Amino acid sequence: MKKKKEKSGKAKTALQSPKGMRDILPEEQPFWEKTRKAAADIADFYNFSRIDTPILEFSDIFEKAVGEATDIVEKQMFVLRTKGGDRLALRPEGTAGIMRAYFEHGLSRLSQPLKLYYLGPMFRYEHPQAGRHRQFHQVGFEIIGSEDAIYDIQIILATTRFLEELKIKNQVIQINSIGCKKCRPGYRKKLQDYYQSQKNKICDDCRRRLEINPLRLLDCKSEKCAEIKGRAPTTVDYLCVACRTHFKSVLEYFDDLNLPYILNSHLVRGLDYYNRTVFEIFTDGSDIALAGGGRYDYLGAILGARQKEVFAVGSALGMERIVETMKAQNLGGPAKSRPKIFLVQIGEAAKKRTLLLMEEFKKSDIKVIEAFGKESFKSQLKAADKERALLSLIMGQREVFEDSVIIRNMQTGVQETVPLNKAVEEAKKRLKNSH
Ligand code: AMP
Repeated sequence: MKKKKEKSGKAKTALQSPKGMRDILPEEQPFWEKTRKAAADIADFYNFSRIDTPILEFSDIFEKAVGEATDIVEKQMFVLRTKGGDRLALRPEGTAGIMRAYFEHGLSRLSQPLKLYYLGPMFRYEHPQAGRHRQFHQVGFEIIGSEDAIYDIQIILATTRFLEELKIKNQVIQINSIGCKKCRPGYRKKLQDYYQSQKNKICDDCRRRLEINPLRLLDCKSEKCAEIKGRAPTTVDYLCVACRTHFKSVLEYFDDLNLPYILNSHLVRGLDYYNRTVFEIFTDGSDIALAGGGRYDYLGAILGARQKEVFAVGSALGMERIVETMKAQNLGGPAKSRPKIFLVQIGEAAKKRTLLLMEEFKKSDIKVIEAFGKESFKSQLKAADKERALLSLIMGQREVFEDSVIIRNMQTGVQETVPLNKAVEEAKKRLKNSH
């Protein structure tokens, strides 16, 4: 009895994906396909080149880039030690790895700014809930090598147009500027002083943030702190002249483009490397962000590159959240292109011939579908009907013997026998006529 219990317990763990990590089954794939295609189309239009970096990086890349006092680094990284003793992390985000690649391969030698886009899985050890997974996928756009505010707006445009390409309605763009090395310390001090005066009213997390990363106080979602946060000093009131001018330009571009936005003076974002422009995109009425991004002019210096500053701006979109939004807004994926020809075989010899015939269709790049697992003629024709095939190519004992095949028009039921070596040509002709 005991043995049985152990056995079933084991099977349960083995046949379950890890917490917060999910399978994307065939039925969901059309949404993903559509999303990947839209990303590639938008990247192509705005001239972003694709980059792929490893899923694993040295963990200190993220510790330095994202910031030691952030949730991502403190609590959410999957870190492993290799047999060789290296400390690697499953990437929690894409930008740090891209910046690493930028330096490693001397990409600053290419024409600047360099526009890159990526797509792939990210990993964060989070508390799984709606729209929050431990393995999730991001599409991201980066423009590296310019300080010009026009690139801030171009990143925002690529991001919002990508969602538009997927027909996602009711987008809300929230934007803020969090200043630079010069003006942020002054603001931070104001914020710290303010929260210090409220210290006994705020949550435990905020008390900790107050000590180690005061800007993150504005990230607090706890109800207890909502009112205090509402009255907190705002970044835009403390921007230096250069940051104010930069932010003003970004907002003017919004106006020129007639692109609506909401100025959210509490938007700071969870990663340390941001400066100046930060933004997030939601759908109206939802507080789950589809996308986020901003400037990260100090990331290069943080990663220890020789150059002082590498101006850069980027965004990342969560693909799971996009797919969920598409489903909620009834934006179906494209139907998988259906094969129009069904191969029916009756008997062992016919089955072998059909396998070869299928390869003939492959050479002509014509999609066919078979049912090698089915034996009876009736069940195969039924399957052909279900697939809405236009033609069935039927091979039985007699056809094997005569080197022929029957072509059946599935709409009219009319059947004709043709020589096997003409099968592809004849099928092609009939498909053409049926259009
Ligand atoms: P971030 O890298 O945190 O700026 O996130 C950018 C986007 O990635 C967010 O707006 C989400 O759409 C998505 N995202 C971030 N974390 C998760 C997660 N744990 N699960 C699913 N999507 C996520």
